[in-house]
Amino acid sequence: MFRRFCLFLLILTALPSSVRAGALSLAANRPESDSAVAAQLESVRAAGLALASAGFRLSTANAALCDRLEPGHGIQLHRIDQYPLAARAAVRAHFRFAGATAVAGVVPGSPAEQAGVRADDTVLAFGPVAVPPASDGPPSTVGLVALWQGVAALPPTAPIRIDLLRDGAPLTVTVTPIPACRTRYELLFTPALEASANGEMVQISTGYTDRFGDELVLAVLAHELAHNILRHRDRLKAVGAEFGMLSGFGRNMGFFRQAELQADTLAVHLLARAGYPADLASRFRQHPVARARSGMFQSPSHPQWRDRLRVALAEEARIAANGPGAPFVAERDAPLTGDWRPLVPKP
Ligand SMILES: [Zn+2]
Repeated sequence: MFRRFCLFLLILTALPSSVRAGALSLAANRPESDSAVAAQLESVRAAGLALASAGFRLSTANAALCDRLEPGHGIQLHRIDQYPLAARAAVRAHFRFAGATAVAGVVPGSPAEQAGVRADDTVLAFGPVAVPPASDGPPSTVGLVALWQGVAALPPTAPIRIDLLRDGAPLTVTVTPIPACRTRYELLFTPALEASANGEMVQISTGYTDRFGDELVLAVLAHELAHNILRHRDRLKAVGAEFGMLSGFGRNMGFFRQAELQADTLAVHLLARAGYPADLASRFRQHPVARARSGMFQSPSHPQWRDRLRVALAEEARIAANGPGAPFVAERDAPLTGDWRPLVPKP
């Protein structure tokens, strides 16, 4: 499994500095057959599209809960300059890049698929948003993120004219998007268990998918999206909570636990609204890897495993009785109090 990614240690939609060095250590001195490289690139494409499809479903099904929207179009973009330098010739040929930016994949059933956009179309213009020229420096997602931010700021339902090149021939399509919560989904190619949300982005590692599988990992995505919907990053900063090593200590602990339990609670409703299985959150919590991560190795910034399972089971029961709601969404502008204990259901 690790070997699958050691050649292209990259992120399909972004590359944080922590792995940038890793991406540059591309094993260019280890010759691989064309078919092996093609298989690796297709596995990267498939993993990225699986995340984009899950993100599209969560973000569009929950648009009514979000006050920051983007056009939900279903196009998964990639750029030649996000790939390691030594891989670019192979990447360009395999994905038929005829410019800086191309369609890595199209979410099945999305407005883009209905409009006829196809994987490996080169993107020349995305509505009024200019496609930045490719950088020929080390791997960078600056251009990709700039493009995403430009498109995300467009009106969420206005038709978007997209100029493409397909097999060298120009083609223009018009995609009529549906509203989606404004969040970019990024896949981090690392065996570590990493998931985070920064307000506009949700990032998850392939380590999660490898251990939990495509279905249970949706519980992690919904939890991170809930952080964005509830603006937890901004609200934690607003109360002066300290991130990192200090997050589990002193008054920080209460703020982080409150945010975690709120996200756990809302996530169950986000999954239900998207039509996912009703017991998904509680099954995720009961997975042996999720259980093993709690206990003595867990940061005190996060609630105890048993408390988190109680939240999942209580919300699943509530939804079974009353249908999904929108817990904590109405108070997303209020300061966090750090009062986390009332958020845990009594045993
Ligand atoms: Zn969290």
